[in-house]
Amino acid sequence: MPNKTEQLYEGKVKVIFKTDDPNLLIMYYKDDATAFNNKKKGTIEEKGAINNAITAKLYELLAAKGIPNHLVSKISDREMLVKKVEIIPVEVIIRNVVAGGLSKRLGIPEGTPLKRPIIEYCYKSDELDDPMINDDHILTLGYATDQELINIRNLALKVNDVLVPYFDALGIRLIDFKLEFGRHKGEVILADEITPDSCRLWDKKTNEKLDKDRFRRDLGKIEEAYQTILRKVVGE
Ligand code: 5GP
Repeated sequence: MPNKTEQLYEGKVKVIFKTDDPNLLIMYYKDDATAFNNKKKGTIEEKGAINNAITAKLYELLAAKGIPNHLVSKISDREMLVKKVEIIPVEVIIRNVVAGGLSKRLGIPEGTPLKRPIIEYCYKSDELDDPMINDDHILTLGYATDQELINIRNLALKVNDVLVPYFDALGIRLIDFKLEFGRHKGEVILADEITPDSCRLWDKKTNEKLDKDRFRRDLGKIEEAYQTILRKVVGE
């Protein structure tokens, strides 16, 4: 087990540490919650531990289905050992049902099902509020190569194909989610997290929101929603 050395980077909800192995990092999940690009801040009790556990479980599932990702192992309540990647500065959003940004942008009511998934890309930039971009921007501006973008799209759709039925069996609708990818030894792999911070998850029977929209929209019962997802995914 490599030893934690100095802090490499502190983000809004996670801290990354170096280890004495140059190919491995430690990702620490904070309880902090932010929305609207840091304009709204708070904490969600136990969120760090919950999101660490959920991401670990989902990444193990995805790895077993042949989807490469950065997880090496969960090493403590709030920490996971991950492969060092060069993050591709593009957020990849996969939508199965209209909600959030898409609903606002096109005036389509939230909850409208999509007959096939929509993939959107945003440029990862806090200063610019993660603006939406398309394939041409990604290729022309050199954020990813043609082959990398093909791989990213294929992997994103594969993740969706695994997670939609997985959550459905737990009584949850996977409405939409955000993925990030990184380069590791020449290969594009899944990085960052998959949690109620980065997904919209609705109860299948009641359509109750069980994700960060409860924080973004002041809907209350935030901790309960995260605990519900933890219980269903990890069984704790
Ligand atoms: P929207 O574009 O509707 O705001 O977000 C679509 C999906 O991507 C939602 O599940 C949302 O949680 C996720 N998402 C979009 N941008 C970000 C981001 O910057 N950070 C996180 N954690 N999730 C995001």
